[in-house]
Amino acid sequence: MKEIVPPPPLIHNESAEVRELFAKYVVPSYGRFDLTFSHGAGSQVWDVAGRRYLDLGGGIAVCSLGHAHPEITEALVEQSRRLVHVSNLYHHAPQGRLAERIVRHLGPGKVFFCNSGAEANEGLYKLARKFGHEEGRFEILTALNSFHGRTLGGISATGQAKVKQGFEPLVPGFRHVPFNDVDAMRAALSPATVAILIEGIQGEGGITPATAEYLLGLRQLCDERRLLLLLDGVQCGHFRTGAFQSFQRILAGVPGAEGFQPDGVAMAKSLGGGFPIGAFWVRGHVHGVKLAEVLGPGTHGTTFGGTPLGCAVALRIFDVIERDGLAAHVRSTGDWLAAQLGGLVQKYPTVVKEVRGFGFIQGIELQPRAGIPGLAGSEKPASLQVVNRLHEAGILTIPSGTQSFRLLPALNISRAQLAEGIETIGQILGSLT
Ligand SMILES: *Cc1c(COP(=O)(O)O)cnc(C)c1O
Repeated sequence: MKEIVPPPPLIHNESAEVRELFAKYVVPSYGRFDLTFSHGAGSQVWDVAGRRYLDLGGGIAVCSLGHAHPEITEALVEQSRRLVHVSNLYHHAPQGRLAERIVRHLGPGKVFFCNSGAEANEGLYKLARKFGHEEGRFEILTALNSFHGRTLGGISATGQAKVKQGFEPLVPGFRHVPFNDVDAMRAALSPATVAILIEGIQGEGGITPATAEYLLGLRQLCDERRLLLLLDGVQCGHFRTGAFQSFQRILAGVPGAEGFQPDGVAMAKSLGGGFPIGAFWVRGHVHGVKLAEVLGPGTHGTTFGGTPLGCAVALRIFDVIERDGLAAHVRSTGDWLAAQLGGLVQKYPTVVKEVRGFGFIQGIELQPRAGIPGLAGSEKPASLQVVNRLHEAGILTIPSGTQSFRLLPALNISRAQLAEGIETIGQILGSLT
């Protein structure tokens, strides 16, 4: 019998070999860093040469329980032994249970499952159009500097010119309005407007939280004008602020916010902890309409939406977050993190302009590059230069536009690990003065 010999492991400058494969065979639509990863554990990740990095980017807010979490592995193995996929022509327990779990965190309503954030938002656009269809309303207003994904609908909804360029004509029916400005939103409404979509915290736009007044003002506007208030919680959701959704953190204890409900919420990223799953929640009733019933049989679907495997993983992540009290951990450690980052603003005011965010979604805005001795010599954006320096120092963070970089660590990262990261970030920022 012929033995099957496994291929020899790539050891000889594996990083260069892998990068060559990418250069030859992968569509170059991403600006990638010169890092090639092999494996991870918790908030640590190792490159193919065996160098360890502290991951404060969390796969861009995806790895909610860090890398190679044993309970995610267990959920994957257990469920894949039972049932990986049945089509949405049938019922199965994990999808029903996951929908129930999400509803419990958001309020009366229903959930649709899909595979990504762009697709979750896409479902909300279709919901809004169906809701307004008989009155001829279809227009969705979004914020300048927003980000809603890379499909044609997503780039049409996104309030940033750079994602649209070269892909025109865009999907009609989207307009963009300054963020955190209720009057601007009110002034922008037209008879065709049916919904407002915003991020609770703008992520790609540089970590800019919505204010409580803005959220309450938009709710009032939507109630007055029979509009849907839709929230994109793809990046800022899933306990990243210490509450399930960012609006719950922003509005906690705010007078007049007690009964606040959005009409739809998009989710993805951290929901599956790295397993691709997205979802949107839609409120049960609003404006005298059973909103959760608007997308009836045959109106919307996706082959892989809410598979047993994806839902089992997402359910296990909810279990771990709740069992281990990670929301409270994110709140207290996030407050500590904000104080530490605030200290860097005080210490290096010529390098750091401002720190924004909550919990484990925080952004550091740098001063203009020309005024920072350590960055002025290069044409590269300040954010990219600092992120590169941090890579050299063994820390992964995520650029956010040209001026900011973000920390989106795993929800279970320890305070000691964060402290290690902050110390290095402080050293790098200090070295630029
Ligand atoms: C990442 C992101 C999306 C898009 O999610 P994909 O899974 O990449 O499609 C949409 N909205 C926000 C706020 C995001 O951060």
